[in-house]
Amino acid sequence: MKLHEYQSKQLFAKYGVSIPKGEVATRPEDARRIATDLGRRVVVKAQVLVGGRGKAGGVKVANTPEEAERVAGQILSMDIKGLAVHKVLVDEAADIRQEIYLGIVLDRAQRRAVMMASAAGGMDIEEVARTQPQKIVRVPIDPFLGLREYQTRQIAYGIGLDRNLIKDFNVIAQGLHRCFVEVDASLAEINPLIVNGEGKLQAVDGKILIDDNALFRHPELAAMRDIDEEEPSETEARQRGLSYIKLDGEIGCMVNGAGLAMATMDMTQLFGGSPANFLDIGGGAQADKVAAALRLILADPNVKAVLFNIFGGITRCDEVARGIVSALEEVKADVPMVARLVGTNEEEGRRILADAKMITAKTLAEAAQKAVAAYKGEDAVVKLPPVAIKPLAVERAVNAGGPAAKKSLAAKSAARPARKVAAKKPAAKKKAASKSKSAR
Ligand code: GDP
Ligand code: MN
Repeated sequence: MKLHEYQSKQLFAKYGVSIPKGEVATRPEDARRIATDLGRRVVVKAQVLVGGRGKAGGVKVANTPEEAERVAGQILSMDIKGLAVHKVLVDEAADIRQEIYLGIVLDRAQRRAVMMASAAGGMDIEEVARTQPQKIVRVPIDPFLGLREYQTRQIAYGIGLDRNLIKDFNVIAQGLHRCFVEVDASLAEINPLIVNGEGKLQAVDGKILIDDNALFRHPELAAMRDIDEEEPSETEARQRGLSYIKLDGEIGCMVNGAGLAMATMDMTQLFGGSPANFLDIGGGAQADKVAAALRLILADPNVKAVLFNIFGGITRCDEVARGIVSALEEVKADVPMVARLVGTNEEEGRRILADAKMITAKTLAEAAQKAVAAYKGEDAVVKLPPVAIKPLAVERAVNAGGPAAKKSLAAKSAARPARKVAAKKPAAKKKAASKSKSAR
């Protein structure tokens, strides 16, 4: 869960980080009142849960309360990266001498938190990381020892901080770290941490990501969730009990089971497509849940084809098929859809979908290929590259039910020379394996 700038900064302040005075407004006239109370130049800042608000025109300095009201009006009617602005933070404007980046993220590879800092603060830190990685100082934090003072000093030297500020910097870095740990954050960042006109350090922007799985320990933080500002797809997924992660590809995937979802994504990739999402609708998904999942997938403009891969155990295939059909009555979809349903009531499920003019497939490999072919506008003729032979064969055997099926499969494949060759020659197999590796 993401916290707003104002929420993050208030938390940081509790841990001894100095922040500017300010208040949140939802109406321009409130911004004027806050500016009057502050009695000095202010900065009016859009509170939306995306970065780069400054560049998008969502951060504006106002010299008078009237100007604060006017710019607040402008910002409150803006859309930043697709998110409507409902709130602005009106802060005392800072006199900025220097902008520093200071953040902590969880580094899964190192299995610990890493503190990062850069003298090239203020701007997009991902850009700095890409173009001038040497400008970022990184210090891993031992989970048992915590953040040591020598480490914060090392960071301060590393970014060339004024020696007089090192003590204050240590207080801020320690505070940020304690905050990170105590709120169960996966990221806590101050960008920029500024040196102001009086030569003091101050956090001008703040961002905290809280691990959703730890929210049950922090009801007061969970209550800070701002549904207005959340990606609507994420809100809906959470409320419906769907595990949904948006990705950058073109093939929307709806799957029941996390492992199956991963396999589906792999297969899609293997056949030259790229998944638009991870979506696990869970076990025993009812028609309305399926409909919600489909709405989520189709709401993504990148989606050029949809691939359903359902294993009907507790979830019945006909129930899922009805969910898909009812969702399609509601949501207009002009992308091709491919479904593979296997398990309980699969025939009925397939019949319902075939009646609805959907492309059906018996195996995952076939479904993935059809989905990729469909979005590329190619004929959905199943052309199997050698690499697909193994998973397809195993899957067919499993689908058809055990060893008897495996035998008949072996007999069939003997009739297909291409497969026979690939299966017999170890060299061809090796090639296929290395190909599958590079496809990932
Ligand atoms: P972001 O663009 O979403 O990261 O929003 P920030 O709060 O970081 O603001 C972007 C930039 O606006 C900062 O890097 C500063 O350069 C500038 N800015 C923010 N607050 C103030 C302020 O109080 N005074 C001045 N002069 N500039 C500010
Ligand atoms: Mn910022």
